[in-house]
Amino acid sequence: MADKIQMVDLRGQYLKIKDEVDSAMMRVIDQTAFIGGPAVKEFAAHLEEYLGAPHVIPCANGTDALQISLMALDLKPGDEVIVPAFTYVASAEVIGLLGLTPVMVDVDPRTFNISVDALPGALSSRTKAIIPVHLFGQSCDMEPLLAFAREHNLYVIEDNAQAIGAEYTFSDGRRAKTGTMGTIGCTSFFPSKNLGCFGDGGAIITSDDFLAEKLRMIANHGQRVKYHHDLIGCNSRLDTLQAAVLDVKLKHLDEYCQARATAAAYYTTRFKDIDPGGRWLQTPVESPWSTHVYHQYTIKVVSNNRDNLKAYLAEQGIPSMVYYPLPLQQQEAFKHITRAAGSLDNSSECARCVLSLPMHTEITKTVQDRVVDAVISFFQ
Ligand SMILES: *Cc1c(COP(=O)(O)O)cnc(C)c1O
Repeated sequence: MADKIQMVDLRGQYLKIKDEVDSAMMRVIDQTAFIGGPAVKEFAAHLEEYLGAPHVIPCANGTDALQISLMALDLKPGDEVIVPAFTYVASAEVIGLLGLTPVMVDVDPRTFNISVDALPGALSSRTKAIIPVHLFGQSCDMEPLLAFAREHNLYVIEDNAQAIGAEYTFSDGRRAKTGTMGTIGCTSFFPSKNLGCFGDGGAIITSDDFLAEKLRMIANHGQRVKYHHDLIGCNSRLDTLQAAVLDVKLKHLDEYCQARATAAAYYTTRFKDIDPGGRWLQTPVESPWSTHVYHQYTIKVVSNNRDNLKAYLAEQGIPSMVYYPLPLQQQEAFKHITRAAGSLDNSSECARCVLSLPMHTEITKTVQDRVVDAVISFFQ
């Protein structure tokens, strides 16, 4: 009997670097420096180097990273923050949590990322920031988004939880890693993310020295000097054990991105062979301005039978996931606090049609063939 197919294979990935990871963790345990140990600083320095960013501030998770970023910007209750309607809840939840107003804009139906054309319609005198989300592993179109933000004096907080390692190319040829282009970038090290640890973790990225200091203070109870609290902050730390794991895995991140991109290309080739006209499904669309690190391989089932396909695949032992079944405007928690800017039809359509297939660094062509064959047998 063939192995059970999984959405992600964290165990297979771990086994390949087991010795390295185990000894890094044992070092932390030997030192018993569980909070704020040397591995935290070392990992932050290595991530700064990898991203080409002056400051990486580790924190407890990606949601905290977003919250702390907004806290550092001196926004007032009722100030508005623009966010795509099709995203993970955390991108918008932190806005509401801080008494700010999430203003939802639509996404591009091909890339699933925030539609830059929708931004002007979202603007009001209270607009203070935009949170572009690099969904599923590729960058939003940052050049026009940053130009719009500059023109209207808006902060940009990149939600880079799904795209660490992806690269954006500006029209003059300059390249930048996602998470390093806005005022602040946020990422998550949740185990299934492209750079995942063995529990929760996150980081905040900025090139602004003043903000870096403030973000560090907010993540540490608002203090610079122990027991002297200048700001209302929170307690958000990356565990030393997690930092040790991440420092090992960061060395493999480019390999991991490559493995995902190779697997994605194989899926796409096979689907295009069988469904060249895209009658049944739309394979992921790669933007010309970004590399794609395929946090998810997400197809759109254009024939309007996504849920039947998902159930059929499950019967064949093939897992698949719907990220995300409800756009923000349909979430109960947001009904009374958000303002919709223009039509959100693309976001509704994405929620109805998307399906993410098994995608991870250890996936084999044999497994991918089983997935593709099952998808095809559903349609034929
Ligand atoms: C995972 C994720 C987050 C939150 O990260 P946590 O570490 O789980 O708090 C935020 N935004 C997006 C887009 C994510 O995928």
